[in-house]
Amino acid sequence: MDLSIVIPIYNEQVNLPALNARVRAVLDALPLQTELIYVNDGSHDDSLALIRAMAAEDPRIHFINFSRNFGHQIAITAGLDLSAGATVVVMDGDLQDPPELIPELYAKLKEGYEVVYAKRRTRQGESMVKLFTAKVFYRLLARITSVNIPLDTGDFRIVSRKVVNALKQMPEQNKFIRGQISWIGYRQTFLEFDRSERAGGVPGYTYSKLIKLALDGITSFSDLPLRLATIGGFVVSGAAFVVMLYAIYAHFFLRNPEGWPSLMVSILFLGGVQLMAVGVIGEYIARLGANARQRPLYIIDETDVPVSAENEASP
Ligand code: UDP
Ligand code: MG
Repeated sequence: MDLSIVIPIYNEQVNLPALNARVRAVLDALPLQTELIYVNDGSHDDSLALIRAMAAEDPRIHFINFSRNFGHQIAITAGLDLSAGATVVVMDGDLQDPPELIPELYAKLKEGYEVVYAKRRTRQGESMVKLFTAKVFYRLLARITSVNIPLDTGDFRIVSRKVVNALKQMPEQNKFIRGQISWIGYRQTFLEFDRSERAGGVPGYTYSKLIKLALDGITSFSDLPLRLATIGGFVVSGAAFVVMLYAIYAHFFLRNPEGWPSLMVSILFLGGVQLMAVGVIGEYIARLGANARQRPLYIIDETDVPVSAENEASP
């Protein structure tokens, strides 16, 4: 098997027919042995039925059906785990990532890279808020992490079997796959593309899922928030010391009668700072807990992916 395509699917019934046709057309034109794996991540619509029908009609197409919605990153993980290709493409199922880029990605990889990611030159059909927060997030992440996570890049990319095998050795529960792939190293490069808008349907990434992904990215690759809590503590203590000197002075020399506003302000301020610091610690502890429980990352209800040397040890 030369090339596997992994596509996570969550409520994509309106996009699936066009997606499937376009990917198949691309695969038909490639002189390679290929497979296409759809991972149904607990869709509530008819996605599963569509995928089953597609798999029945083309021997290259397979499906994995999760027992419930586990999330985009976990769906990608399952697809990578069960893939058999010497190279694997990961792409979204809403046609925001053009299948027509696959041959270029493959050709670039064969120039001697282990990872070729597709970088968004432009993004269409996203709200101003989303564009702005994404821009800020990617830049913030680049500043505070030690690994070099590429800017403005999603999970649309091609990786070699070496990288898939390395990913399989990273059992963390809170996946931020693009960060993990950067961490793995090897020779990596990118191609630029213009990201179109979602063909149909609604985004499966709600804001709460996006915030979770952002926090997973930060906590998995940086301890800076924890250090900021420490530094904040020192700064606030220093300020408190100065205020204390003033309070003593005011008590003896100014006979300052206005005690309670300053008390209120300092109690509320300190309370806020402390809760924030505890919250930061909590984010890390929650992830420690998830990893300590060692639950499987996903539960597969049913799959027709054939067992091969590449995937037989997978969950
Ligand atoms: N997706 C998924 N599980 C989820 C949410 C999304 O498998 O819980 C899939 C979705 O079907 C799509 C891809 O992940 O193929 C990207 O999702 P979406 O388009 O909502 O994200 P966005 O493009 O807005 O970042
Ligand atoms: Mg999308």
